[in-house]
Amino acid sequence: MAGVNLSGIVKSYGALQVVHGIDLDVSEKEFVVLVGPSGCGKSTTLRMIAGLEEITAGELTIDGRRMNRIAPKDRDVAMVFQNYALYPHLNVADNMAFGLRIRKMPKAEIKTTIDDVAEILGLTPYLERRPADLSGGQRQRVAMGRAIVRHPKVFLFDEPLSNLDAKLRTQMRAEIKRLHNRLGVTSIYVTHDQVEAMTLADRIVVMNDGNIEQVGTPMELFNNPANTFVAGFLGSPP
Ligand code: ADP
Ligand code: MG
Repeated sequence: MAGVNLSGIVKSYGALQVVHGIDLDVSEKEFVVLVGPSGCGKSTTLRMIAGLEEITAGELTIDGRRMNRIAPKDRDVAMVFQNYALYPHLNVADNMAFGLRIRKMPKAEIKTTIDDVAEILGLTPYLERRPADLSGGQRQRVAMGRAIVRHPKVFLFDEPLSNLDAKLRTQMRAEIKRLHNRLGVTSIYVTHDQVEAMTLADRIVVMNDGNIEQVGTPMELFNNPANTFVAGFLGSPP
């Protein structure tokens, strides 16, 4: 019952169909990674789950509730983007508090929440800083903090680490996985990086041209690719 369920999900922009009726069941607390070449529909799929794009056809449920017509703020999801999308004029604490103020959370409760989340992410010394005075890794943590403060059940990540250098990427990848386990959330993570997919995923979803080619554990896909596309995409490490 819990988790995220996509059934026959279609997305069209005008006459152009870019997601062709995909089915996917993500279990509660699972870490699922969507991979595939640029333009195959990964972000569009994630944005439909978040409610940032209208679903053209098909059914989306989260925790067994039909989501198609539910506004993003009323879904139990939070999304972390590649470009962080932080407010440059607000400090770290206010960036993380922004969504809570909109939801009219009491001031004292906001402070406790921000302090807790900052502690988890190692951001306590930086709460007064503006985004411009943070490193790339710290900005990424703030972006995650902003998602976490709402206590969502589902985390959506759209290539969150692609602006970071290789060393930091490896470190943040481990942090994201730790966070996923610690918070007990369900995560759907988009990347075009095969190594990232292989190391993070409970299951990998391989997309190509608006379709799902195969779903399986990293080992299943690596050892038993359904077709040459999957084999070519995951089979040969870069
Ligand atoms: P990915 O994230 O896998 O790189 P996207 O989901 O961003 O791919 O895009 C899938 C397809 O949908 C692409 O062909 C893209 O050009 C198209 N697309 C995305 N957003 C729009 C839009 N707002 N209007 C028209 N076409 C779009
Ligand atoms: Mg994308």
